[in-house]
Amino acid sequence: MRNLIAICLLICFFNVTAQTKPESKLSCSYDELTAPDFVKAVKQSSGVCLLPLGILEKHGPHLPLGTDIFECRKIAFTAAEQEYCVVFPTYYAGQINEAKHQPGTIAYSPDLLWKMLQETCEELSRNGLKKIIIVNGHGGNNDFLRYFCMSQLNSPKDYVLVFFQPNESQDVLKKIEALRQTKTGGHADEMETSMMRFIRPDLVKSELAGTQSGENQKRLADVPFQYTGIWWYAQYPNHYAGDATKSSAELGKLIVESDAVQLAQLIKKLKSSNKIEELQNQFYKESSNPLNTKQ
Ligand SMILES: [Zn+2]
Repeated sequence: MRNLIAICLLICFFNVTAQTKPESKLSCSYDELTAPDFVKAVKQSSGVCLLPLGILEKHGPHLPLGTDIFECRKIAFTAAEQEYCVVFPTYYAGQINEAKHQPGTIAYSPDLLWKMLQETCEELSRNGLKKIIIVNGHGGNNDFLRYFCMSQLNSPKDYVLVFFQPNESQDVLKKIEALRQTKTGGHADEMETSMMRFIRPDLVKSELAGTQSGENQKRLADVPFQYTGIWWYAQYPNHYAGDATKSSAELGKLIVESDAVQLAQLIKKLKSSNKIEELQNQFYKESSNPLNTKQ
């Protein structure tokens, strides 16, 4: 009998310790979460979700096609580790018509891009992730994304969409200046190559960086006062802008980490503030009957 009591006590003790065992840390990765953990993650993130947007395109002769994806996801995860939120899986549907002449480019049609992004936002919102931050890794997306954000005002939405806009401090700019060895750039350049040397050095073929020209070829320089979709191809037909023969992981680390710190600040703010949502709702209300808007 005494043995039985001892065994019962022992079982109770283990049950209690099992129940009080601290819960394991929630993953930031949307696709790594179980469904029950996803519910907890939505709560813990206060509905904030990062949507890193990359692309599949040539990055000079020396960087991988997915460079922009690696960059924005590294920034996103570094920030999410500082300020918990959910990070959406790899997304590479973006505007890249200008690189269709280069091998490996995946250029979906404009209407599909729009629908993919719109429905991704709506699905995130339906799942409780109502504060969506786009972390864009691809320069060719910028105009599309600004127009997409503005177009969200066209009809009422039950989520807010925010486009992360990093803005390096004077201190970081000075450090970048000190490390940077080239003055021009824009694509697969010293900065991007440095980022990749920090993020995935195994994928960087620095020895090939000088095998193609990344110089502006100015092929439309004699046509004044214009914007045309072929401008990028006119300037950089090799889909390479800059000179990446020099780069350093140190510079890449600096860029990634300074962006991540600013992104973490934005995440933190959105978790505690409903200001955008409130303004949006006020706007939708007034838009439904503009004659009642105070004049
Ligand atoms: Zn890039």
